Amino acid sequence: MLQLNCPHCQAILSVHPSRAGEISECTICQGKFLVPVPMAKTPVSSSLDSSNQGRMDPEYGEFVDKKLAAGICGILLGGFGVHKFLLGLNNAGLIMLAVSLSGLVVGPCLILPLFGPVIMGLVGLIEGIIYLTKSQDDFYQTYAVEKKDWF
Ligand SMILES: [Zn+2]
Repeated sequence: MLQLNCPHCQAILSVHPSRAGEISECTICQGKFLVPVPMAKTPVSSSLDSSNQGRMDPEYGEFVDKKLAAGICGILLGGFGVHKFLLGLNNAGLIMLAVSLSGLVVGPCLILPLFGPVIMGLVGLIEGIIYLTKSQDDFYQTYAVEKKDWF
């Protein structure tokens, strides 16, 4: 069995090795997390390993590099869902883009739809701030592993 710490409640969990690379659920707090894949190439030094937990995934570095860009895009261009496309949350990005664009097209005639882009812009602004305030581990866990669409 693999021993690992729950990223949410830090409980020590035993996970079957066949679940490596899959999303698992903590038995204590029900939080979802990615079971790390044991690395075969590098010699495992268990004493140093704890500091590198969560960074084994090659996509990790690439993904957390987008944190700043996604945060800034959310704040400046939030209404158009740019920050969501950056993070691969395409469905949520398309919804924001559609609401904003249709609001801008229809809005001047009907006034009310103009609230669409305003609200989407606010959502993007808040999400951008959330991205920037999250730690890299938290950011990766939430948007790369759990693929949380909103906030
Ligand atoms: Zn837990």
